[in-house]
Amino acid sequence: MPTAIEIFKLLPKKNCGECDYPTCLAFAMQLANQKVKVEACPHISEQAKASLAVSASAPIRLLRIGVGESRVEIGDETEIYRHEKKFFHQTCYAVVLSDTLSTQERREGLERVNGLRFERIGQIMKMDMIGIRNDSGNLEKFATAVEEVSSSTDLPMVLFASDPQMMRAAVARVAGRSPLLHAATAANHNAMAMVAKETKCPLVVREDRGLDMLADLVQKVKAIGVEDIVLDFGPRSLKDLLENSTIVRKVAVKKTFRGLGFPIMVNAGAGERAILMAMISTMKYGGIVAFDEIDPAEALPLFVLRQSIYTDPQVPIQVKPDLYPINNPDERSPVVFTTNFSLTYFTVMGDIEKSKMPAWLQVVDTEGLSVMTAYAAGKLTPDTVAKALESSGAKDKSKRGDIIIPGMVSRMSAKLQEITGLKVIVGPKESSALPKFMKNL
Ligand code: SF4
Repeated sequence: MPTAIEIFKLLPKKNCGECDYPTCLAFAMQLANQKVKVEACPHISEQAKASLAVSASAPIRLLRIGVGESRVEIGDETEIYRHEKKFFHQTCYAVVLSDTLSTQERREGLERVNGLRFERIGQIMKMDMIGIRNDSGNLEKFATAVEEVSSSTDLPMVLFASDPQMMRAAVARVAGRSPLLHAATAANHNAMAMVAKETKCPLVVREDRGLDMLADLVQKVKAIGVEDIVLDFGPRSLKDLLENSTIVRKVAVKKTFRGLGFPIMVNAGAGERAILMAMISTMKYGGIVAFDEIDPAEALPLFVLRQSIYTDPQVPIQVKPDLYPINNPDERSPVVFTTNFSLTYFTVMGDIEKSKMPAWLQVVDTEGLSVMTAYAAGKLTPDTVAKALESSGAKDKSKRGDIIIPGMVSRMSAKLQEITGLKVIVGPKESSALPKFMKNL
């Protein structure tokens, strides 16, 4: 969105008040904050309206691939650096299956993809898309493979074929799934763009001879009437990937060139180099990374990296403040407390689980801050802990009459004992020492 001053320059400057604001500048400020519509000014010229519409549009087009709950969204990013605000739509990972595989092999491939699923700090991390590639050169084989995969998964699909006729036949078998088509190239762009236009499917535009030529090809595809575009610049090296991804994001976000304002797709292949490419693409602006193969040991660190990059830096991940039972506790089991910062909660919970000792874990609402940060910010106090114990009914669940507190906040012992009437036991400073501590309790 342009700034208030940039908008003001385009307004008629009559200060007539017909927009319900006393001056054009006041109206411009409201418009910049997206609190009013430009149509509220009856005097603005059509030309000014058009330029405001262009500068207010997202620098990188939002694309939706697939349908239903597993539909993915890519693009619509506004920042170059995550700390400036946040990145909105995480990089999607796809695994591509060949149409030369047998039905049984494809089924096993799909099972492996479904198996790439992990839970970390309360969030599910998994593969987002499935690809089918035409390696056979046979129309019927490709269309059948696409149909088979489509009937076995609701993951959004990417169809890889260089022959527009084969692509058309395959899309016809999965009508309504809105797959991503890969790809329009210099050799086939007219016919491939027609397939995308007629089937209303998003289209990858691929050109590996440089970004200038890619921008030209994008223009040609747009001229045919395709707007939902994904860029594939076929990086030849890791340096090439980093450099071109950065250029595409910068020119789009800074709006110095609108022709490349689309999400980026990378075909990473398999092996160590594929993981390196995926890491770069995850950190630097990738919309989709497609693998030929990836095993769980490679996928997990990649998922963790993605989770870190696409977490809002201003909003810590939190769990619900409550009393959580661990290892089937009863009224003889102790109460331990921690904060509702997800990472802290899951670490403490895991360490108590490891001890195999039953316990009640009281999670105190600290607005997602960790123990020391919350204590320093005055959000973890004897009063907040007492209130949390009160509202969860912890004293009824555990009749031991004591509470284990993190060693980092031992200073609150006396006051907490006074307010709650519970005997305070100071636990270890580090959660990793909890298993031993709990066993010795
Ligand atoms: Fe300015 Fe238009 Fe508002 Fe009049 S209606 S004050 S010209 S912005």
